[in-house]
Amino acid sequence: MIDAFDIAIRRARLRKRDDRLVDIGIRDGLITNVAQRLEGKAVTEIDAHGNLVTESFVNPHLHLCKVWTLAMVEEKAPQAYHGEAMGRAMAGIELASKIKDKYAESWIAENARRAVALAAVHGNLHIRAFADVDGKARLEAVRALIRVRDEFRGVVDLQVVAFAQDGIVREPGAAELLHQAMKLGADVVGGIPWIELTEADAATHIKICFDYAREFDRDVSMLLDDAGDPGLRTLEMMAMEAIRREWKGRALAHHCRAMSLYPTPYVQRLARILTRAGVAIVTNPHTGPLHARVRELLTEDVLVCLGQDDISDAFYPFGRNNMLEVAFLASHLLWMMTRQEIEKLYDMITVDAARAMNVARYGLCEGAPADVVILDQPDVLETLRYHASPVWVISNGRVVDQARMRAIAFSQRDTD
Ligand SMILES: [Zn+2]
Repeated sequence: MIDAFDIAIRRARLRKRDDRLVDIGIRDGLITNVAQRLEGKAVTEIDAHGNLVTESFVNPHLHLCKVWTLAMVEEKAPQAYHGEAMGRAMAGIELASKIKDKYAESWIAENARRAVALAAVHGNLHIRAFADVDGKARLEAVRALIRVRDEFRGVVDLQVVAFAQDGIVREPGAAELLHQAMKLGADVVGGIPWIELTEADAATHIKICFDYAREFDRDVSMLLDDAGDPGLRTLEMMAMEAIRREWKGRALAHHCRAMSLYPTPYVQRLARILTRAGVAIVTNPHTGPLHARVRELLTEDVLVCLGQDDISDAFYPFGRNNMLEVAFLASHLLWMMTRQEIEKLYDMITVDAARAMNVARYGLCEGAPADVVILDQPDVLETLRYHASPVWVISNGRVVDQARMRAIAFSQRDTD
């Protein structure tokens, strides 16, 4: 007799439902049935034991070309980035960028593989991954991340961002390299306009990114106003450009730390521009002493989500692609601790992050791709408390081979 399902998850507890447990049927990569009791057997039967089953985790911001490079950088870089209320962040980024003289596709790809395998272990199945493109990095990082993207296809879905971290106007040749990176197959156009030396140059930087986005029909992701300077305004500039170009919902804003220093009336006005432009904000309060004003943005209906940002590099020594850990840290740093706020934090690493990244057909519902995690706790609060890796991770309707992923993730530990 033919089995009804490839995988059946029995006695699953879903979020925001009443207390009744459900069965989830998966076939041909899709969630085909969600019902109180599903008849028919499956090739793989999983008992969730009444614990929480949700959509897999989503990380909309990771500098994947820099993972595990902490040992290669001088301590002066993080000191400059984080210190003096982020007043010298630009100097920190410049110091950190020295390692790019050593950039080579081979070691970047190996480091990235370990971080992506670690993501799979933690049920983090969609990542927007930044690859630096400039005179030093050349196209080494883009080639490495495209290679890793193709290797992990079907397990972890990577969106590779070609990212001109040293500027487009101030960095000779960066515009051409960015164009080449898009031709090579990068998924997203990445910019950092605030790093330019004048407002006019920042505007040119933004214009070039949107030109390429249109040419290649790609989304835009930009790191904005990432320093302790209340005069930085590139978030507004980028959102206005998204409106002018009719790129609604296709431009994502990262960092935006200067927002913490803006006058409140300006934040109100800015929030209206962001909703009109469909620009979502990715914040990562654990990687810097300043962060976007999440509570106010949420009150104003701006889409906000959380990113890992860094794993063991010049900007952050920790990180392991565990989005539950990111949400747990954010709960403290943003002081979001009520039941309702904890549920919101969980949205910010799942459904909201997927919307920000334009992940197609994401969700725990019939007809969606079967990307789900089966946790070892009954609710979101307990899940965040322990922020443990899921008991089972299912990607595209297949059980992720955890032993294999762990073997890749921890393969070079002795050389760290
Ligand atoms: Zn970042």
